[in-house]
Amino acid sequence: SNIPKIVILGAGYGGILTALRLQKELNYNEADVTLVNKHDYHYITTHLHMPAAGTDNPENARVSISKLIDEFKIDFVKSTVVQIRPQDKKVILEDGTLSYDYLVIGLGGEPETFGIPGLGEHAMNIRSINSVRLIREHIEYQFARFKREPHRTDYLTFVVGGAGFTGIEFVGELSDRIPELCKQFDVDPALVKIYNIEAAPTALPGFDPELVEYGMDVLTKKGVTFRIGTAIKECSPEGVVVGEGEEIKSATVIWTGGIRGNRLIEEAGFETMRGRVKVDEFLRSPGNENIYIVGDNSLMFNPEGRPYPPTAQIAMQQGVVCAHNLVASIRNQPPKGFTFSNKGTVASLGKGEAIGIAFGKKYKGRVAAWLKKAIDLRYLFIIGGISLVLRKGKFL
Ligand code: FAD
Ligand code: NAD
Repeated sequence: SNIPKIVILGAGYGGILTALRLQKELNYNEADVTLVNKHDYHYITTHLHMPAAGTDNPENARVSISKLIDEFKIDFVKSTVVQIRPQDKKVILEDGTLSYDYLVIGLGGEPETFGIPGLGEHAMNIRSINSVRLIREHIEYQFARFKREPHRTDYLTFVVGGAGFTGIEFVGELSDRIPELCKQFDVDPALVKIYNIEAAPTALPGFDPELVEYGMDVLTKKGVTFRIGTAIKECSPEGVVVGEGEEIKSATVIWTGGIRGNRLIEEAGFETMRGRVKVDEFLRSPGNENIYIVGDNSLMFNPEGRPYPPTAQIAMQQGVVCAHNLVASIRNQPPKGFTFSNKGTVASLGKGEAIGIAFGKKYKGRVAAWLKKAIDLRYLFIIGGISLVLRKGKFL
């Protein structure tokens, strides 16, 4: 048939929003839409710090894709993409091949290790349901091991590399979980250490200094030790080497030092910066007008020339514009330029505590924590309506 084929790679924030909007805007038989994702569920990445620390069940951070999309309108393929071939307009999956007229790439980022020895092999990452289940089980296992080898206090030392938003949100949860684990395993809380190690001269570089200070204060009181202006130089099964060669012994290293684009994009021959493609204002890859890139794999600059940080917020807005432009292209109408509308940033510091900037105002403490919940509920509503809010939303 000559119905245009649209293939969307990845059902993360960018991919799922693109799919939902296409499903709404396309007329019957106007295009064939296929959504490909590694798992048959979408994960709510912005919740993953909780199941990673064990303060929430991983089930609450994932939603079955069949509950989100209308499978009469969109074909869902559960498979892993192994290669993108722009010249042939094909995508190679682990178990087949798809051809497309239009491609949307929303495969999400990968941990950036900056070539630091051992990080790729010995540190864990907060990126997916599978990766956070591993972290949660690993942490519990360290407590169990310690009970058999009580001289190994390094089992009770937890290192978090990077005090960006991911690192900060995770240590907030972990410091809430530790007292519970200490009780469960009869461990003296004084033996447990949480280090958050940050290379830059401040935690949350670039964020409001007053809120950063408040956040560090809250977390320090909950037992987090910050090592600011201290870079991780090496990682091994014994722990990390930081700064000028100081060793911190630990059986648990969680790396939250940054993310880069998906390696499949570089391998496909796109021009990239840290694995990301600098897209045009219509979200297309330069030189490939039928390929759109959304979310963590795209790179866009603000009017001052600085790159927008890769967030769920921008990925969602890109998904909406991407779907609009796909429909416009099929109808031979002009595309719409993307402009980011920044709604603000709110970061959790654990139970009942958060910091954030929204509507041009600063928030901290309980009010900020409520705001964070409101943002989370809004997202569930956008992708799954009231029923998803009721199933996965947390109101307390
Ligand atoms: P993702 O959401 O990462 O989705 C990529 C999808 O592609 C996944 O479903 C994955 O399974 C699939 N996939 C990957 N590789 C393949 C393959 N080879 N084949 C098939 N499928 C594949 N941002 C905010 O704006 N606000 C927040 O509060 C916030 N909190 C965060 C908290 C944490 C703990 C973390 C880690 C991140 C947070 N972020 C937040 C950042 C945000 O999660 C990301 O920017 C966002 O998820 C990017 O969306 P995306 O669509 O590019 O990709
Ligand atoms: P990031 O890149 O924002 O932060 C990584 C941090 O690690 C930086 O502060 C960096 O200086 C530090 N670092 C790098 N190398 C280091 C080293 N060798 N030793 C010690 N520290 C080192 O990454 P992230 O925190 O994972 O965030 C990724 C994206 O997701 C960002 O755009 C962020 O805004 C977004 N995010 C948002 C929220 C939220 O809004 N609540 C939560 C999590 C993530």
